[in-house]
Parts: sequence; C-alpha cells; structure tokens
Amino acid sequence: MADNFKDLKWYSQFFRKCSKCGTCKSAYSYGPPPTNATICPQGEYFKLDSYYGSRAKSFLGQAILENRVDLTDPAIQEDMQKAVFSCTVCGGCQTQCQLDYKPWIIDYIEEMRHNLVNRGIGPTKAEKIYQDKVIKDHNPYGETHSSRFNWLKDVRNLKTDGNTVYFAGCTASYRRTEIAKSTASVLTKLGEDWAVMGENEYCCGSPLLRAGLREEPQKLAEHNVDYLNDHGFKTIVTACAGCYKVLAKEYEKWWGLKLKAKVLHTSQYLEEKMKKGELKLSSVPATVTYHDPCHMGRHMNHYEVDMEGKKQWKGSYIQIDKPGLYETPRNVLKAIPGIQFKEMYRNRDNSFCCGAGGGIKASYPDVALETAKTRIKEAEGLDGVQKMVTPCPFCVTNLGDATKALGSKVEVVDLIQLVDQALKK
Ligand code: SF4
Ligand code: SF4
Repeated sequence: MADNFKDLKWYSQFFRKCSKCGTCKSAYSYGPPPTNATICPQGEYFKLDSYYGSRAKSFLGQAILENRVDLTDPAIQEDMQKAVFSCTVCGGCQTQCQLDYKPWIIDYIEEMRHNLVNRGIGPTKAEKIYQDKVIKDHNPYGETHSSRFNWLKDVRNLKTDGNTVYFAGCTASYRRTEIAKSTASVLTKLGEDWAVMGENEYCCGSPLLRAGLREEPQKLAEHNVDYLNDHGFKTIVTACAGCYKVLAKEYEKWWGLKLKAKVLHTSQYLEEKMKKGELKLSSVPATVTYHDPCHMGRHMNHYEVDMEGKKQWKGSYIQIDKPGLYETPRNVLKAIPGIQFKEMYRNRDNSFCCGAGGGIKASYPDVALETAKTRIKEAEGLDGVQKMVTPCPFCVTNLGDATKALGSKVEVVDLIQLVDQALKK
C-alpha cells in the first residue's frame, strides 16, 4: 500500500526556514515577570548546542542532505545516531518556534530517523531489540502474545463483541495492569457494553513509528484497522496517550487507513459522560497536579498551514486551529469532589516531557530518568501536592521510576485510577 510519508528533501523546504534564533531551546514567558523555563529534555541532559531543540535538528538535516558529514565513518555514524535518536520527540521545541518550520518539526525528526535507518545508522540497539519483539509477539516487552489479556481474568470473562471496544495497548496490558483493570472497572460501572480485541489486539505501532520504522508499523496498523472495522464497534476507547495518537491520527495520516468507529481517549469518553450528567463521582480528598503527556497534547495540536498561498505565502504557518487534549483531562480531574488542583509552571503547550517517549526509555534510560526526576521535582515545588496525575501508562511508569529514585512523597497515578476510585458503583 502506498503511504504518505515525505522524505528529507521535502521537509527541507521547511527546516531550511529555521532562522537559528534559538527560541526553541527554552520556553519563554514575557511575564510579568519574564521567565525562562527549560523545555528540551535532550538539550538539558547533554548540555550541547547540537542537541538542543529543533534548531539543532535543522542543522543535522542540512548536514545529512548536503553530504556535509561522512556518514560512512563509524565515529560520525555513532555521533549522528546519538544526536538524532536521543531526542524524546516531545515537541517542546515545536511549540516555541513561530516560523513555517513549526508544523513539521515532529514528523521531520522522525523522517530524519527513517533516513538514518535506511543508511543502517538506526534504529538504536535497544529499538532493534524491541522491534524484533513486536514482530514476534506483537508487543515491545517480549511477553507472550497469548498472555496479553491475562489481566482481564481478574475482572471478567473475555468478551469480544459490544458497542465499545477498549484498546488496552501494550504497556497497560503487560506492565501497568492496574490501569487496564481500572479502565475496565470504569466502563463496567458506567454500564457500557464493552469488549476487547483479545488475541487480535496487536501493538498499535507507536514504538516502531517513533524509531523511524515504516513497514513493520504499517502491518500492525492494517491488522488492527481490519479487525476493528470488521467487528462493528461504534467507539474505540484507549487509556494510553501513545495508542490514542496513533489510532486517532496516524493510521489515516500515514496510510489512509480510516477507522469506522469514533476514537476516544478515556478522558474524552469521561467528559462526554460528564456533560450528559452520567458521571456521579464521590469525594477523593487529595491535592494534585497534572502532567500533560506529549502524545495527547502537543502531538495532537492541529496546525493550519497555507499550502496554496491563499492567505499568506505558500507553506506559511497560520495558527494552531485545533489544540491537543489539554482541557479535557483537566476538566475530568477537577470534577472529582475533594480534589484540590495545582498547576505546574510548565503546562499544556509548554509542558515538560516525562522523558520516556521517542524510544528513549529503552535506548537512553539515563536521559529518561533524569528528565522524569526534573518533572517530579517541579511537582514537589508546589505546596502540599500529594499526587501527580497523568492519563498515560507510559508516563506513569517513567515518572513512577523517578519518584522511587528520588524517594519522593509525590505519588504518580493515572487519571482513570482516580476516576475509578471516585465512581460510585
Ligand atoms: S527551530 Fe524555530 S525557534 Fe528554533 S532556532 Fe529555528 S526558527 Fe528559531
Ligand atoms: S522534540 Fe523535545 S527533546 Fe527533541 S529537540 Fe525538541 S524539545 Fe528537545
């Protein structure tokens, strides 16, 4: 099947417009008072200009495209792989940039990875290992495929037909089963006629796409879309930010694979219920803050680009015409009685990545951990915050690892767990 990926030469019309101003190295607020906040996990870890933000990536793209570096030299290959693959692809730099390069930054970084994969300079060793696991067992953790829904045995019998299907994803299925169980519990308490895909649920493909791979995630996409479309579900619900981005946006964007069912993150599903007055929540007394997963927030921003040159010039960036899921999860969280909400300084478009995305937790675990520690410390700086709430099992995992490493009193929980606790039976 044909795909819609663009090559590095195509992206060069945009990354060449980078003025090298350096704005993408930090999040700047004009105040009052004016403040600078770190935004780039990769730059903050390595402290090298050649790693900071989308500015560095435009230099690297030019170097690759114009053969300014000898990519047959093993030492340069190693440096190039590190510079391109140790970025969390969080999009923090993208939201700072205001030039025509802005809308394309995330996709361009992943295309640069794909270009290096084609040259044998990627994926990283760790990504290659989990790629093989996904091909063999349909999950990056190397767990047996037949055990994917073992968590469900504690909840109810396997049911594969219904109005709504819960796409659990690999992390909730194998590593954060408490999140899968809470999601199941919430759907049941709300009287939903819900199903799972059982052995037909394969990895959504996100870990492979993020590593610059193309054919393998396409096979996963085709499998998942065929099954979901053949089974007449009306709604697909997922509690994972990574799965959400792939299902709601990327299957169609990259391969034209259109899902017949509506795709909702659990926070959207809950907000819909809230608006209909169907969410009866009891008190959960706690002081909490909220962490924005990049794949639900910045990655879901929709950019208006004037490709025809009707409003400005061809290819000009106009505006973000549809923001990512920033308010929806906050609305659900704030609707729980007893919750005292405190916002972290870096939030929404200016949020700081948890550090796990873009293959980093596997390939550069120190970068992932140090980034998450920074985020936990930010929450600790808010007076009285007991919990950091986030609606993504992968963020929960990495931020939870940081709380353990720091010995922090801040507990990391998934939004769906709090809702499950608050939801009356
Ligand atoms: S990517 Fe954008 S913000 Fe960063 S240096 Fe280039 S023009 Fe400036
Ligand atoms: S995507 Fe995130 S980690 Fe990568 S350069 Fe941009 S801000 Fe830094």
